[in-house]
Amino acid sequence: MRKIAVYPGSFDPITNGHIDIIRRGLGITNKLIVLVSYNPDKSSLFSVEERMEMIQEVIGDDPRIKVDSFSGLLVDYAGKAGASIILRGLRAMSEFEYEFQLALINRRLDRDIETVFLMTGYKWFYTSSKIVKEAASFGGSVKGLVPDIVSRKLQEKYSNKR
Ligand code: ADP
Repeated sequence: MRKIAVYPGSFDPITNGHIDIIRRGLGITNKLIVLVSYNPDKSSLFSVEERMEMIQEVIGDDPRIKVDSFSGLLVDYAGKAGASIILRGLRAMSEFEYEFQLALINRRLDRDIETVFLMTGYKWFYTSSKIVKEAASFGGSVKGLVPDIVSRKLQEKYSNKR
């Protein structure tokens, strides 16, 4: 059976933690859509286009992965894309409550779509876009936490801001 999964997130920017989830997600699906979900009211460091470009560059040319963007109800997007799985990563317990609520509301909105959680790889337990941005904004090195191209883009972004 052909299983399509949507992996939604802000990806502002993509980190090695996200990449680990993408790589492992491919092991349980046939096709993965990495979906840059944006909220026009929420501020972000990188534009949606910049975020998508970075993801595409990092994953390269893989026919099993599509990069897309969306603003709206996730289950609407998933339904149209023929996806039956919403993929999410879990790190700390603090995330659990929010993820629980999100999974339940999405299930209420569309019972044919299941949320599947992958536990973070232990190396990426503390890696989040937020912490990476904080470190980079003060000139700290984030090498090893994000792909090199993302590290360069962060440097560029913050040196322009300084
Ligand atoms: P959101 O704004 O929706 O939280 P993120 O880009 O922060 O978007 O994360 C998207 C998904 O990837 C979420 O399910 C999040 O828990 C997961 N994720 C982020 N960082 C990691 C990590 N280091 N390890 C595992 N999962 C992660």
